[in-house]
Amino acid sequence: MPLIVPSKFNMKTKLLYIFVVALFLLSGIQFGFAQKKVYTVVLDAGHGGHDPGNMGNGYKEKNIALKITLAVGKILSKEKDINVIYTRKKDVFVELWKRGQVANKIKADLFVSLHCDSHTSNAYGLGTFVLGSRGNRKNLEIAKRENSVILLEKDYEKNYNYDPNSPESVIGLSLIQEENLDQSLQLASIIQNTLVKKLKRHNRHVKMDNFQVLRETVMPSVLIELGFLTNKKEGRYLNSASGQRAMAKYIAASIVTYVNQLKLNTVNVKNNTLPIVVDAETDKKEEEIFFKIQIASSKRKIATKPYNFKGLKKIERVKVASYYKYYYGKTANYKNIQTLLKRVRKKGYQSAFIAAFKNGAKISVSEALKTK
Ligand SMILES: [Zn+2]
Repeated sequence: MPLIVPSKFNMKTKLLYIFVVALFLLSGIQFGFAQKKVYTVVLDAGHGGHDPGNMGNGYKEKNIALKITLAVGKILSKEKDINVIYTRKKDVFVELWKRGQVANKIKADLFVSLHCDSHTSNAYGLGTFVLGSRGNRKNLEIAKRENSVILLEKDYEKNYNYDPNSPESVIGLSLIQEENLDQSLQLASIIQNTLVKKLKRHNRHVKMDNFQVLRETVMPSVLIELGFLTNKKEGRYLNSASGQRAMAKYIAASIVTYVNQLKLNTVNVKNNTLPIVVDAETDKKEEEIFFKIQIASSKRKIATKPYNFKGLKKIERVKVASYYKYYYGKTANYKNIQTLLKRVRKKGYQSAFIAAFKNGAKISVSEALKTK
C-alpha cells in the first residue's frame, strides 16, 4: 500500500505524519511476532484421593498415573510454546466432569489422560483410546472400570444422568468429540507408535471407546492405558522410577511431535494418512459378524496404498468375479462403523456404504443387525 501524504500539510506535519504511520506499521509487525501461539496441554492423572484406581499386585494406579503425569508436565514445561495445566497435582479426588471442565474453561488445545489397566488374566501391553461408541466386550469392561468412579462422586445423577454400569448408557457419541476424531486419532497414533517402539511395549493399538472423561472435553483428547498393573512384570515396570521416567519422556516427546504438527498445520484431515481405527481385537475375536466400509469397486487392480485412497490406510482389496472391491475399517460395532462412514464420506467417498459379513461371507446389514 503506497503511503499517501495529504499535500495540504506543511513539511513538519508531513514528517510527523510519515513518522506516525511508520511507527504504526512497525508496531503491527512486532505485534505479529509477539502473537506466536502457545499451545495449552491439559494433563490428567487418572483417579486420586478416595479413588485409588486399580490395585493390581498391590500397586496403586492413582499414584503411578500421578507420578508419570507430573514428570510429563515437567518435561513439557521446558517447551516455550507449550503451557501445561494439570487436573490434579496431588493425591486428591477430582470428579470426571470437572476434569473436562478444567480443559474446556481455558480452551486447551489437547487433553491427555493417563491410566493403568487391570485384568484377571495375565494380559499386558499399552493401548491409546479416543472417544467412540461401545467397542467390543473387552473394551467395554475397561471403560466401565474407568467410568465407575462416577459412583464415588456425590450428586453423580445430577452431573451425568448416567449409570456407568449399564451398557445402554455408554452407547452414543459426543458430537463434539466426533468432530475432533481425526485430530484425536492423530495424537493417539503418535503416542501409541512412539511408546510401543521406543519402550518395546506390547501393542494393544489405538482404539475407540466410551470414556466419560473424554466425553466431557471439547478438544482433541486421548486416554492412555499405560499397561497392566495386574501383570507382574508390567506392574513392576510401571511402578519403578526408571519405568516412569521412560514413559514420561516418550509421552512428552509424542505431545511435542503433535504440537509441532499443529504448528505446521499438518494435522489436516485431507492431507494426512489416518491411523488404523476401531477395535483391533475384532480381528482375533470370537465375534463372527463384523462391518466394513466399501469405498469403491473397480475392474482395475489398484495398489492399496494410502496415496491411492485419499490417505486412508489399511485398505483391503477383495476380488469378486471380474471386479475388485475396496474396503476400509473392520469392526463388530455398528455405531463405530457409522462414525467411520461419516469420515470416509467427508474425505470424498460420497457413495461409500457399510457392508456386513458373517464368517467372512457377505450378508445384508439388516441381517447382521438382527443377529447381534
Ligand atoms: Zn484408571
